[in-house]
Amino acid sequence: MALKDYQFWFVVGSQDLYGPEVLETVSKRAEEMVKILNSSGNLPCEIIYKLTAKTTNEVDEIVKLANFDDKCAGVITWMHTFSPSKMWLKGIANLQKPYCHLATQYNLNIPNDEIDMDFMNLNQAAHGDREHGFIGTRLRKPRKVIVGFWKDEKVQKKLGSWMRVCVGVAFSKKLKVMRFNDNMRNVAVTEGDKIMVQEVLGWEVNSWPVGQLVDYINEVSNDEVKDLLKIYKSQYIINTDNIDAIKYQAKEEIAIKRMLDEQGCKAFTNTFEDLYGMEQLPGLASQHLMMQGYGYGGEGDWKVSAMTSIVKAMSEGMDGGTSFMEDYTYELQPDNEYSLGAHMLEVCPSVAADKPKIEVHPLGIGGKNDPARLVFEGHAGPAIVISLIDMGGRLRLIVQEIECIKPIYDMPNLPVARVMWKAFPNLYDGVECWIMAGGAHHSVLTYDVSAEQMKDFARIFGIEFVYINKSTVPMDLEKELFLNDIAYKIN
Ligand code: MN
Repeated sequence: MALKDYQFWFVVGSQDLYGPEVLETVSKRAEEMVKILNSSGNLPCEIIYKLTAKTTNEVDEIVKLANFDDKCAGVITWMHTFSPSKMWLKGIANLQKPYCHLATQYNLNIPNDEIDMDFMNLNQAAHGDREHGFIGTRLRKPRKVIVGFWKDEKVQKKLGSWMRVCVGVAFSKKLKVMRFNDNMRNVAVTEGDKIMVQEVLGWEVNSWPVGQLVDYINEVSNDEVKDLLKIYKSQYIINTDNIDAIKYQAKEEIAIKRMLDEQGCKAFTNTFEDLYGMEQLPGLASQHLMMQGYGYGGEGDWKVSAMTSIVKAMSEGMDGGTSFMEDYTYELQPDNEYSLGAHMLEVCPSVAADKPKIEVHPLGIGGKNDPARLVFEGHAGPAIVISLIDMGGRLRLIVQEIECIKPIYDMPNLPVARVMWKAFPNLYDGVECWIMAGGAHHSVLTYDVSAEQMKDFARIFGIEFVYINKSTVPMDLEKELFLNDIAYKIN
């Protein structure tokens, strides 16, 4: 399902105390609000007004329906009037969809002349939203609280960005990852408990034989290759005479995509340690597959591959870009310290500053033919890097704020895509924090999804979230990590 296919259910809270006239007004206004919110252009998905709930049974019934509706990616509640929260207890406890409490108010101003007790009884969101908030807290229910006037663009955008998180959650719960062979031998951080991850995040992570992929590569027709070459030519600059190398990458891309689609997988991994029967390590092939929304992880890193596809699903239709990334080397000139991120080949062209070039160069690793790959610079702008690690029995999601810059060197002999960034709070402290938190060398780099969205994602799934930003102090972070360890042991 694409982003726009998901829906969000709007459930307004009230009670029977106010009589039918008030309830009718509440219902009419809720419909009006949903209509205006849907036409605001600030929400990526549609909101459906479901009902004004007055009883435990009504809440219970709507939650049951929401839980089993695949199109429903989340539930939004709002208390126009006072709605006693014991009537919400059972429903909220049973709710399996992401949940947002929109604490808003129908009217912008207090009408000086009109206000009387009737007005206050009808417009008591300030009162009702507090009662509603308590039960969510009391139940320790993960939720997003968004406060503000519903016509305010900032509020609408906040709601919109939460909706994207929920689409990422729905995507995660259905995600299948295809692995070609295992992780790179002896690497630790790319390992993980696949059963726990399936239980917590929903991912099905399984492997398929490289030999089967080779069979698929050999079956790709010349016409298919020709068609894909046309697409390459339209999107990229061909900067090589070695067209055969590009054609082979096209075959690899078509074959990998065919296997992924046949199995319903949205992410894949491979490893240079097993390219048995393949002529090149997939470079251009993996890059162009990422461009189409598939997740990729090098050296068998299925966690980063899955996260790449999830972040791409969250940011569908946005144009900043999201890629599999790896910290490679540093520029340590005092006051101008930077990280240089790249990979052997596989960086997604969605992050490119200019039209990427297809080039063919030798690759010292893997022992195969020179692979075609896309070479480009990443664009400037604020971004984040994301790393999901297995702490043994639980997961930790680490997010760091970064500022990407135009690379300060043109590095004419570096034959791969590269992104250069300034880590926050600064390179030394930022790297200290990342290493202390156990962040991987692989990450997802995104210009489109924010740290707040990743925090919401972690909260919905109940996993630890570590945030390294402009005001992070290494000593404080160390203490936070220590306390988190204890908290998650108790949990
Ligand atoms: Mn790597």
